[in-house]
Amino acid sequence: MNRKKNFFAGPSVLPVEVLQQLHEDLLDYKGYGLSMIEASHRGQPFETMYQETLSLVRSLMNVPEDYEIFFLGGGATLQFSMIPMNFLKNGTVADYIKSGTWSNKAAADAAKVGDVNLYYDGTDNGFSSLPDPSAVKPSENSSYLYLCSNETIGGIEWQSWPETGDVPLIADMSSDLLSRPVPVEKFSMIYGGVQKNLGPAGATLVILKKDMLERQNPNLTAYLDYSLHAKGGGLYNTPPVFSIWAVKLVLEWIQKNGGAEGMDKRAALKSSLIYDVIDGSDGFYRSPVDKNVRSRMNVVFRMGSEELEKKFLAEAGENGMLGLKGHRSVGGLRASIYNSLPVEDVQALADMMKEFQRVNG
Ligand SMILES: *Cc1c(COP(=O)(O)O)cnc(C)c1O
Repeated sequence: MNRKKNFFAGPSVLPVEVLQQLHEDLLDYKGYGLSMIEASHRGQPFETMYQETLSLVRSLMNVPEDYEIFFLGGGATLQFSMIPMNFLKNGTVADYIKSGTWSNKAAADAAKVGDVNLYYDGTDNGFSSLPDPSAVKPSENSSYLYLCSNETIGGIEWQSWPETGDVPLIADMSSDLLSRPVPVEKFSMIYGGVQKNLGPAGATLVILKKDMLERQNPNLTAYLDYSLHAKGGGLYNTPPVFSIWAVKLVLEWIQKNGGAEGMDKRAALKSSLIYDVIDGSDGFYRSPVDKNVRSRMNVVFRMGSEELEKKFLAEAGENGMLGLKGHRSVGGLRASIYNSLPVEDVQALADMMKEFQRVNG
């Protein structure tokens, strides 16, 4: 099998072992005589698989007992509106840290529901930096403070977390879920679409502190109401079964590879392979992001001209490297190097970058 080197930003690469296991179990799941994706979500074998998935999330992410864990549909994007609908109270504000495309979309949705305070707006610096976490203080009448831990398009990532006291801290971790240890207890809610680091598209992981259910707005329609999902153990309606099954296998792979700490080391190693080439290139490659907040998941870089970037992309394609084009809204290049991407693939990109500079520099 000739697998390409997959640098796509999402949906993105999965471990080969996981794809093989899905393939093997697809027709007959562990002798049940039917496939996991043909089974009722109210019976075996789904129930066992589902409970194991939740325990894996809890242990790998070190989620305390007073947090609910569930998988919703609608992508991370649905959470942009569910969060303010549930938690933004009349007469209060929601603080948003606008650090790039995704937090901006979240803030825009929240502004349709209630009052948004843009606590920080990185527009003026081209989203190249983040506020100092230790200086972040939510507004006095804040319902919650919201941030995006890793801006997938801009390639900027929080390295430590604000202390928000009694004000709930909510984070979109779609593109760096389980790429490092995270102190879940500092957050009232963490969520993310699984299709970057944890599985195929279709499920959104939600980790919600139970006391948030007491702060909710009333009169929400069923699906939009977190408390119904909590009461139903995440099975209020049919969950994204296939995606959850694949997430379970990815979580087992993460566990085998050292858990959050193992992923942390992998991310440090892989991202430094690319950033070292950028920093050692005498400006042939450049990173638009402040060094201290560079993403270890999405390495964004630019070259001297768009022609050169096009040539680079073409050569990368010839070398079996896909998905290196920057997001259409910002241009340039972007290597997404999520958990499952093998170190060798990143090394191959680093080598190609050096060779490309030697020939074209
Ligand atoms: C991809 C992404 C989203 C959007 O996810 P969908 O599941 O497509 O709605 C939101 N936030 C971040 C940080 C992302 O990377």
